[in-house]
Amino acid sequence: MDSRGTSTAETPDWRTRAACLFLAEDSYEDLMFPDPGNKPAVKYAQRICDPCPVWEACLLDALTDEGGKTKDNRYGIRGGLTPSQRYGVYTRSRQRQQTAA
Ligand code: SF4
Repeated sequence: MDSRGTSTAETPDWRTRAACLFLAEDSYEDLMFPDPGNKPAVKYAQRICDPCPVWEACLLDALTDEGGKTKDNRYGIRGGLTPSQRYGVYTRSRQRQQTAA
């Protein structure tokens, strides 16, 4: 299953409604996995995610996939967020869990 889930029996329903599905397979990797230092390319990918009706499911899926990985080991724009932004969501969530415990 690829990260936008084009069609396996295990494809969650939300992936069939992903805004990035309109991208051709060969441009998907280039557009949704931009060099983090290329700010125009990052913004372009985030604009693809902006109207996505399933961004929350996508973000949750990314956070689950990535687990406790460092920000340098997270890739691509998922759920509208950069790897660094997702790492921030992950660390804040962990801090809240530890505070609550
Ligand atoms: S939030 Fe972005 S990466 Fe995730 S499914 Fe939607 S368009 Fe694709």
